[in-house]
Amino acid sequence: MPSHAVSCRNRASATTRARWAIRAVGSNKAGICIMGARYIKMGQRIQSALSLLYPPRCLTCGDLVEGAFGLCGPCWRDTPFVGGTVCDSCGVPLTGPDDGARIECDACMQTPRPWRMGRSALVYQGHARKLVLALKHGDRTDIARPAARWMLRAARPLIRDRTVLVPVPLHWTRMLRRKYNQAALLAQAMAETGQLDVCVDLLTRSRRTPSLDRCPAAERHALLNRALDVHPRRWTRVQGASILLVDDVMTSGATLAAAAAACYAAGANDVCVVTLARVAKDTWTCMWVIWNKGETIGFYR
Ligand SMILES: [Zn+2]
Ligand SMILES: [Zn+2]
Repeated sequence: MPSHAVSCRNRASATTRARWAIRAVGSNKAGICIMGARYIKMGQRIQSALSLLYPPRCLTCGDLVEGAFGLCGPCWRDTPFVGGTVCDSCGVPLTGPDDGARIECDACMQTPRPWRMGRSALVYQGHARKLVLALKHGDRTDIARPAARWMLRAARPLIRDRTVLVPVPLHWTRMLRRKYNQAALLAQAMAETGQLDVCVDLLTRSRRTPSLDRCPAAERHALLNRALDVHPRRWTRVQGASILLVDDVMTSGATLAAAAAACYAAGANDVCVVTLARVAKDTWTCMWVIWNKGETIGFYR
């Protein structure tokens, strides 16, 4: 800073003082960059202080872990992540080789899905079930970020250029009671982590449906018929778009089917689904069919 500037510092206006501050760290742009870097460093220091006060803990058992938002070794080992060969429609794990041809489980063969492809990060059992229930009913919103990372990894084959993440909505009365929509938290965390587009209010739930947790699949489909719709202000966003529907758990797939139907009715070009966990019946994993260009070429048990 020039010496004359120091002598008249007290009389300088706030703008002039700001200019000096920028000049003191270099040119305007560089100054802003350096100041930005200082804020980032400050943020990192605050984060380190917080991690000393609140060291990262395992999401499932609460033991201390090295990195933030993760699982300890034993919990990681006991969490049923989906890997290897999966059903291309619902993401349930299947046995047998993955040769690149489209494969579907028998549930998806019996109930063809109205979306193109689906993936799930976890099988809904054991630790995975605990995580989903904690996120859904236990106010454990901290689970959303690591869960989003797992979901992004599972959804990699479904993501196209300009894919829009769309969470399955809650009815407003349920939203008031729960205070947050776990699917929206997952979609937002996925968008943040994967630098993707997200539209949390693209779909609306116009009709309140009873809890579907113990409902047979046929009843679910009937109850959800036209219960979901595209928000009138979001129709232009849907037309020609590639939509990736996001939800916490897929049981029969009735809710996701209603959401996919609403998106296609509004003009979506492509709809895929990703869930944190997939409810898998043992019988669904023991038989699958190989598809090649729409033609059945074999069955496995
Ligand atoms: Zn643990
Ligand atoms: Zn399937």
